[in-house]
Amino acid sequence: MRPAVIGAGVTGIVAAYRLSQRGYACDVYERWPGLGGQAATLDVGGGHLLERYYHHLFTSDRHIVELYEELGMPDEIEWRPSSVAMFVDGDSHAFTSPADLLRFSPMSSAARVRMGAAVVWPQRRYPTVDPFHDVTTREWVNRAMGRQAWDKVWGPLLHEKFGRHADQIAMAWLWSTADGSPSDHGKQARNELLGYPRHSWELLYDRLRDEIERAGGRVMIDRPAARLARGDGSLVVVPGAAGSFRSGHDPREFAVVEEGEAYDGVIATVSQ
Ligand SMILES: Cc1cc2nc3c(=O)[nH]c(=O)nc-3n(C[C@H](O)[C@H](O)[C@H](O)COP(=O)(O)OP(=O)(O)OC[C@H]3O[C@@H](n4cnc5c(N)ncnc54)[C@H](O)[C@@H]3O)c2cc1C
Repeated sequence: MRPAVIGAGVTGIVAAYRLSQRGYACDVYERWPGLGGQAATLDVGGGHLLERYYHHLFTSDRHIVELYEELGMPDEIEWRPSSVAMFVDGDSHAFTSPADLLRFSPMSSAARVRMGAAVVWPQRRYPTVDPFHDVTTREWVNRAMGRQAWDKVWGPLLHEKFGRHADQIAMAWLWSTADGSPSDHGKQARNELLGYPRHSWELLYDRLRDEIERAGGRVMIDRPAARLARGDGSLVVVPGAAGSFRSGHDPREFAVVEEGEAYDGVIATVSQ
């Protein structure tokens, strides 16, 4: 079988790596002239790479931690205490520990206590995510934590993260961002640690690319999938011309200068 993956963000490059481990020579098509997608890095000179955006791991992100271990790089991730603050109504408020929440003056005292109790409640009460697929975060927060918790904390955070979709985000998302182990949850909230790669995520992408290529695959950057067509019992990926990323995100805008290549299966990992 000859597979292809569209997109070399974390999802795409890990999918191609897993296929390579199963003996498939997998081709990866990436629109951007680099790897990592939303978690890509930026060369700031002097041999230093930085994440383009703020990127960290939570201790609950077990799969990527296991991947680093699997690749023999367990020490690449550095765990540091979190030091998060909220900027509300012109003031900065520390926002890491339960004590910080109790001192969070933009909300009334009663609202702070109510939110604190509700933060640990869903995982203690519900060990699986199932009850949270059909309720939005907004509905759940308003009901369990109260209106102030939505207006001063969760609403602004979700609007920054999800824009116009903020009100439709399933509560399953918020449930899963907390630590997966209910017994660890209190400890986690008091001593939150965040993981950062010592040498940027690029090291991970390089390793995965090497493994994919060792298995006979190709990781092709600045080479978008401009079209996907049905062939004779296959799927044909038609590549866009180099530099197509300058035309935006819509593959219909990409110039096509080559014939497509046929694959038995294609995994698309593009965001939208
Ligand atoms: C500002 C910001 C901060 C974040 N911070 C964190 C964080 O701290 N911790 C965390 O865990 N997550 C964070 N995230 C989320 C995380 O970055 C994403 O969930 C993750 O990177 C998504 O990976 P992906 O491979 O699924 O998608 P993407 O990274 O979107 O990858 C999709 C890839 O497909 C490519 N592509 C698109 N169209 C085509 C095409 N036609 N042909 C070929 N290639 C194509 C794109 O160029 C891209 O490289 C953050 C996201 C943002 C935007």
